[in-house]
Amino acid sequence: MSFARTALCFLLLSAIALAQTPTNLPATTTPPSTTAEKPLTALPYTPSLDVASMDKTVDPCVDFYQYSCGGWRKNNPIPGDQAAWSVYGKLHEDNQRFLWGVLQELATRPSGRTPAEQKIGDYFGACMNEPAIEKLGARPLQPALNEIAALKSKKDLAALLAAEHLRGDEGTFFNFGSDQDFADASQVIAFAGAGGLGLPDRDYYTKTDAKSEEIRQKYLAHMAKMFQLLGDSADKAKQEAATVLKLETALAKASLTRVEQRDPHNLFHKMDRKQVQALTPDFNWDVYLRVAGIGNVQTFNVTEPKFYQALNQQLQSNSLDDLKTYLRWHVARSSAPFLSTPFVQENFEFYRHTLRGVQQIQPRWKRCVGWVDRQLGEALGQEFVKRAFSDDMKKRTLGMTKLIEQAMQEDLEQLTWMGPETKKQALEKLHVVVNKVGYPDKWRDYSSVVIKPDDFLGNVQRAATFESHRQLGKIGKPLDRGEWGMTPPTVNAYYNPQMNDINFPAGVLEPPLYDIKIDDAPNYGNTGSTIGHELTHGFDDEGRQFDSKGNLRDWWTKEDAEHFEQRAKCVVDQYAQYTVVDDITINSKLTEGEDVADLGGTILAYIAWKAATKGETLENREGFTPDQRFFIGLAQWACENERDENLRVNAITNPHSPGKYRINGVVINVPEFQQAFSCKSGQPMVRENRCRVW
Ligand SMILES: [Zn+2]
Repeated sequence: MSFARTALCFLLLSAIALAQTPTNLPATTTPPSTTAEKPLTALPYTPSLDVASMDKTVDPCVDFYQYSCGGWRKNNPIPGDQAAWSVYGKLHEDNQRFLWGVLQELATRPSGRTPAEQKIGDYFGACMNEPAIEKLGARPLQPALNEIAALKSKKDLAALLAAEHLRGDEGTFFNFGSDQDFADASQVIAFAGAGGLGLPDRDYYTKTDAKSEEIRQKYLAHMAKMFQLLGDSADKAKQEAATVLKLETALAKASLTRVEQRDPHNLFHKMDRKQVQALTPDFNWDVYLRVAGIGNVQTFNVTEPKFYQALNQQLQSNSLDDLKTYLRWHVARSSAPFLSTPFVQENFEFYRHTLRGVQQIQPRWKRCVGWVDRQLGEALGQEFVKRAFSDDMKKRTLGMTKLIEQAMQEDLEQLTWMGPETKKQALEKLHVVVNKVGYPDKWRDYSSVVIKPDDFLGNVQRAATFESHRQLGKIGKPLDRGEWGMTPPTVNAYYNPQMNDINFPAGVLEPPLYDIKIDDAPNYGNTGSTIGHELTHGFDDEGRQFDSKGNLRDWWTKEDAEHFEQRAKCVVDQYAQYTVVDDITINSKLTEGEDVADLGGTILAYIAWKAATKGETLENREGFTPDQRFFIGLAQWACENERDENLRVNAITNPHSPGKYRINGVVINVPEFQQAFSCKSGQPMVRENRCRVW
């Protein structure tokens, strides 16, 4: 039971989720790797400005992204087991490969392990023990399937669902967890959210184009195959798949779109227990909450009341047998990656191959490292931080962050479109942003999780249960402001509007993203812009609706809010023109916050870099001026190749624009870029009426 909070990340993480959620290959792809794979004993080094990654045959004023990344894109075809390949993705894999060696050693060390080392070592060892997993086949699913089969009446559904949610079968019928109260961020309350879908977004159920229709047909076929793996006949399995799709479609239609979800007011409906019960008369919340171990909870945020009305209607109108069919599908779906090959393969075929175009399943070690990170991430993170992160890196990053915050303060003070009242509150908010760098001050205690060297699915479920209880246990307790929403090896960053904090895990503060061996210019362009990006999230279409304390409260004058919207609209209109794949253009109402953050973050990093190097004479290096190095450093974080199928999924689900536009769409709005490369007006990388928010 967890709740997907509205943290604003730098990237959409595509690492392996517990249940692989729904991820194409051009005909000319790389052949499967035949080289024997080995763990890394040290993290490899690539400079944060790499001339070999450029394509100097391209005019930077025509396509700056290709100029900066052309070499990288040519030299880094998408590996068969990836949906996309990028500088971030490559670093993520290097971190994984490094941790693989660490975990292998811990799994086989005969004695002298700390309790945390025992847990991650044995979890990894059990995960890697494929013969044992194969031998069990579908048997680990049997207890859950028996529970469903034993269901005698719809009244018993609540108890069963609570047990399933605790075990980690997230999202069956709905999502339930805890989060900060939008009205009072110091309080943690229960959150009941929409859910219940097996496809990556509600739009997959409602769109009527040929591609969407094709995916639904393939989804039906996939569900039918899974039912057959559970032992059902082909005919029955086909009917069962149709039953599930019908039910999920009804839930999808009642769910908010991703754009609607960007407005926190659409997701805030505080209710007491009676109101929640009245909303779903056919579901016994008393039983659900008691079994979940939170029988006394009185206050809820039902994020999407309309969804719960539709849910109740589905509980009412479907037969008990049909509800059981739905439950069996979701148990099989969420457990499939942890079972024997037929389940793993069928799950991969649909969610990774069909949806995202991936050609090969990831090697076992990669999936296992990913799951350790997901389930015991702060125990694994300690090992990572010990070996790959230093106090010096933390100090340097904090220093850079301070300078970027200073740049934002100066920027806010001199803004011509924001009045003094709003400015005062904006500055107040900026001054209390908490900067979290590297890893948490206090590590999560996993001592109550039992991890056995010979029980993989059991480990998965026990770790998930621990996490569910941890999340629900926060309700009504003082907020832990030290908590992190990402693990230390993660190559990503985020801003959390209710914590009002920016978070940079150790994994994102490594070369080629942050490279202390070279000059400041590319580092400010790269990591500096990321820091600026996260900071401006506190003031974007979503973040600006929360105040300095993290409460949902409008602190903008009407006039200033209008000025903000006008300026952001310039960016929204610009990105709406960009094509993602085929005839699909960017849904720029969805990407607004990220696009505005990319532009603002770059401007703030540039100002901070100038301040940091004031009075210094900066030299040209490798044939580039310092200003050119800043912008090439910026572009080179975003070098990537992506499969068409994955682009289609991202066009629906990803609030970030594709890498090319995250660079070209920014630099066309920055006059200092035009000067740095002496671009002439009228050239593609120079915009006449520039957008500027921050
Ligand atoms: Zn972001």
